[in-house]
Amino acid sequence: MSDVYAEPTTGADPADPATLARYTTLRLGGPAGRLATAASADEIVQQVQEAELREDPVLVLAGGSNVVIGDQGFPGTVVLIRSRGYRVVAEDADTVTVRVEAGEPWDDLVAATVEHGWSGLECLSGIPGSAGATPIQNVGAYGQEVAETIVAVEAYDRSHRAVVRIAAEDCGFAYRGSIFKYSDRWVVLSVDFRLTRAPLSGPVRYAELARALGVEVGDRVPLADARATVLRLRAGKGMVLDPDDPDTRSVGSFFTNPVLERAAYDLFRERVGDLGDPPNWPCPGDRVKISAAWLIDKAGFGRGYPGPAGVAISSKHTLALTNRGGTAGTAALVALAREIRDGVHARFGVTLHPEPVLINCTI
Ligand SMILES: Cc1cc2nc3c(=O)[nH]c(=O)nc-3n(C[C@H](O)[C@H](O)[C@H](O)COP(=O)(O)OP(=O)(O)OC[C@H]3O[C@@H](n4cnc5c(N)ncnc54)[C@H](O)[C@@H]3O)c2cc1C
Repeated sequence: MSDVYAEPTTGADPADPATLARYTTLRLGGPAGRLATAASADEIVQQVQEAELREDPVLVLAGGSNVVIGDQGFPGTVVLIRSRGYRVVAEDADTVTVRVEAGEPWDDLVAATVEHGWSGLECLSGIPGSAGATPIQNVGAYGQEVAETIVAVEAYDRSHRAVVRIAAEDCGFAYRGSIFKYSDRWVVLSVDFRLTRAPLSGPVRYAELARALGVEVGDRVPLADARATVLRLRAGKGMVLDPDDPDTRSVGSFFTNPVLERAAYDLFRERVGDLGDPPNWPCPGDRVKISAAWLIDKAGFGRGYPGPAGVAISSKHTLALTNRGGTAGTAALVALAREIRDGVHARFGVTLHPEPVLINCTI
C-alpha cells in the first residue's frame, strides 16, 4: 500500500522505523513502544483493542500534522490510521452526504468534492492530514470550518467498547475544539459530510480571500477558483506541505487566536499603545478574537526568529514554529514556544495557548 503520510525524512534517526519523527510534519518525536498500522475501520478497532489487551497506552496518529511529540517518544502502541476512501451515503436534489474513511488524505477529498461540484469544503483546501482528524479540532481556514458540513462522526468508544455514531450537535464543536480534542476516549472511524450540489462556493467570508479573488465579502465564486486561490494564499505563507520548503516543517499555526471577554479586550487595547489597530473579530457573547500572529510579531518575535539553525519561527508566517533540521529536538521547539508565550504575556497581558496536541512534552 502506498503511504502518503509516512515519508523518508531527515528527522532523528530516520533509519529506525519506530521513530515518530518519521510520521510527523515537524519531523520531531522520539520512538514508539510499538507501531501498528490499520488500513480499515475494522483494523483500527482491532488494533486499539489489541493494545488495550496488552495494557498498552494508545496513541492514534494519522497525518502527524497537529501533534508535538516529546523526544522520549510514546511508550505504548501508536496506531497509524491508514484507511482510505469515501462514498455517497445519501443524496437529494440539493445535497450529497459523503462518508469518508478516517485515513483518507484530507486534501484529496477536498479536491474530489470540488471536481464533483459539491460545495462546502473548498476553502479548506491545502490543509495537511487526514479526514478523520478534522473533527478533532474542528479544522478551519479562510472563513470555513468542518462543523458547518459534518453531520455525524462514527467512532470507536473505548469507554463502552462499542462503535457509536455521534451526531454533529453532540460533538461539542467550538473554535479549534470538540469533545474529541485532548480525549483518548473516541477513535474516529469515518466522518459524514453533507455538501451542497453547487458550482459556486459558499459566500466568501474572509476579507483576504475575497481580495485575492477580486470579489466582495459575501460573493460566491466557482469552486475551482476558490480552491486555487486558497492554495496560492496558503503556499505564500508556507501553509501547504512542501518537502523542499523547511517553512512547512511545522504544525501550521502553533497558537490559537485568543478570544477575550470584553473587559479583557479593553485592557489589552490599553496596552497596545501606539502600535496601531490590532486585527480583531467579534465573537458571540460579546467576546473578541484577536490575532496571535500580530501579538507575536509586535512582542518582538519576527519571522525567522531566533535564527536560521535549529528551531525558528517560519520565514513566511509568525504563527508557525518550524524545525530547520539538524539535531534540534522537541525540547528546543517547546522552549521556543514558551519564550514566545511568555514574551507575549509580558508585553500584552494575553496568554497564548498551543493549537497542536502535545504528547509527552509541555510548554
Ligand atoms: C502546514 C500546515 C498547515 C495547517 N493548516 C491548518 C489550518 O489551516 N487549519 C487547521 O485547522 N489546521 C491546520 N493544520 C493542522 C492540521 O493539519 C490539522 O489539524 C489536521 O486535521 C490534523 O490531521 P492529522 O491527520 O495530521 O492529525 P494528527 O496530527 O495525526 O493527529 C492530531 C490529533 O488528532 C488525533 N487523531 C488523529 N486521527 C484521529 C482519529 N481517527 N481518531 C481520533 N483521534 C485522532 C491524534 O491522536 C492527535 O491528538 C495545519 C498543519 C500544517 C502542518
